[in-house]
Amino acid sequence: MQWLVCLGLSFIKSILSLIFHVLQVFHDSITTFFTNQRQRHPKTPKNKKKVVVIGGSFAGLSAIHKLNHYSDELEVTLVDCRDWFEYIPGILRAFVDASYASNIVRKRSTTTTTESFVQGIAKQIERNNIIVSPTIGYNGNIHGSRRRTKAKENGSDGNEPETITLPYDYLVVATGSKHKHPTITPSIGSTTAENYKDRLRAFENEEQRIRSAKSIIILGGGPVGVELAAEISCHFPSKAVTIIQRSDRLLPSFPNETGIYVEQWFRQRNVCVLLNTTLSSHNERQCITTSGDVYTADVVYVCFGMKPNSDFMVANMNKTTAATNDDTSNNSDNDITQKNSIVDPNGFILVKDTFEIKENCTEEKNIDGTVTSANSIFVVGDVASHSSNEMKQAYYAEAHGHVVAKNILAMARASSSTTNKNNFFLESYPEIFTHDKSNEMPLVYTVSLGRYDGSLGFNGFVLNGPIASLLKWIIEYTKVMQMEGKAVGEYIWWIGDTVTLWMSRNILPPPSSTYQTKN
Ligand SMILES: Cc1cc2nc3c(=O)[nH]c(=O)nc-3n(C[C@H](O)[C@H](O)[C@H](O)COP(=O)(O)OP(=O)(O)OC[C@H]3O[C@@H](n4cnc5c(N)ncnc54)[C@H](O)[C@@H]3O)c2cc1C
Repeated sequence: MQWLVCLGLSFIKSILSLIFHVLQVFHDSITTFFTNQRQRHPKTPKNKKKVVVIGGSFAGLSAIHKLNHYSDELEVTLVDCRDWFEYIPGILRAFVDASYASNIVRKRSTTTTTESFVQGIAKQIERNNIIVSPTIGYNGNIHGSRRRTKAKENGSDGNEPETITLPYDYLVVATGSKHKHPTITPSIGSTTAENYKDRLRAFENEEQRIRSAKSIIILGGGPVGVELAAEISCHFPSKAVTIIQRSDRLLPSFPNETGIYVEQWFRQRNVCVLLNTTLSSHNERQCITTSGDVYTADVVYVCFGMKPNSDFMVANMNKTTAATNDDTSNNSDNDITQKNSIVDPNGFILVKDTFEIKENCTEEKNIDGTVTSANSIFVVGDVASHSSNEMKQAYYAEAHGHVVAKNILAMARASSSTTNKNNFFLESYPEIFTHDKSNEMPLVYTVSLGRYDGSLGFNGFVLNGPIASLLKWIIEYTKVMQMEGKAVGEYIWWIGDTVTLWMSRNILPPPSSTYQTKN
């Protein structure tokens, strides 16, 4: 029976991937034809507004794809230290089967006709510029940017840029978050974080590590810990896998039906699940609980404790604060991050409902209800701290990107107008999707249990079993297409998001806010 389900799912996946591929080829041929027609009547170039997006993952890419529709009015530049992007919810399968990474990790295109790409680490934000430290080997040239080159005596030929100063009219900070394990989130500054081939190699090393281990401990029974344990126990059933979880059930952020199904699934596969177990310390080979029990294994994975990538904004802030306290030092008037209030206690950057950074934002309501705002810095995705306190999920990160793209366009159009410079309307989150400020965004999730099982949730509704895993695969396949900027992915998700939001508003509203808490 089990093999029949596997065979059936594999067959459906092959048929669907063929259909998606054919649709994309069909779309590409039609657009090539019409693009050729249009190029005979090129539009006159305008004085475009400069938009810089830091971070090219779910939030950043969703904003960029929307902004690219207005390339006549906006000049978009992406800054990211990685020359690749990936569909993060799928990476745990590549831990046990490194060849799977080719389905979900993509090298960024440097020949895109839309946005420009600067490969480097954002170091500092000033009022109208951002300072980027380019990765070794990056030698691109962005219109309007300034470069400070390395001194010749430092072993450099004097042509390599040390920093690049990028001017912006609007800035989108989409730098996301990091997990403790370096293969889950490669550390910024490491070659794995920069280079596509090194990223693929990291999965090969991880697979090797798991292969040669007899026992594995997973610390944390949230979605990351559960999916990793499931991949290991499916792929290597003979390994001794233990999950250690602080609370009284797995996946406490999701409804009970999912948590119970997952727990039973593990118990049937002899995975040891230790609930109500709090850690006092842990290292690469062992962990000690508060009750003094010691657990050892060949490999220990830490699957909890996510942190925001906001250090570079906070570093500016500390520099400025230090300068204020020291009369002899030079305080830079340009630094935008002046007070501690830019981040919440966990380091996430505080934003308004429009995703403008809360700090330094002066806002006035006009008589007709429109808002005049002086801010040109937006923060979206995992790194943002929004009052909804929602979970850190790719679905929400993309939704933020949509809102910001709309708001930037509204601001840019108003500022280019000769008459109504201060007259524009900014969209608010989640109101733009829920149509009512008091409503929440839908709770949508899929948890995979290996390749052929899983649990899917939509608001209060839960679907467990092989169909959930098939839906997760469809989401993954089409999301990768969308992240690549392929039209079929864009269309499918335009329909998918519209239907999801409509159902959430009209048929199956979100459950009480108990699930909608931060990890
Ligand atoms: C293992 C795992 C499984 C998950 N599964 C799911 C799931 O099933 N469903 C779901 O909805 N969510 C899931 N999530 C959460 C989801 O991946 C995140 O919510 C999402 O990635 C957030 O997107 P983001 O664009 O805000 O940031 P990120 O995806 O974290 O991307 C940030 C980007 O910014 C770049 N960057 C950071 N700092 C700098 C800097 N200083 N200079 C230049 N570039 C910088 C990084 O290189 C990166 O490209 C999962 C997360 C993990 C780790």
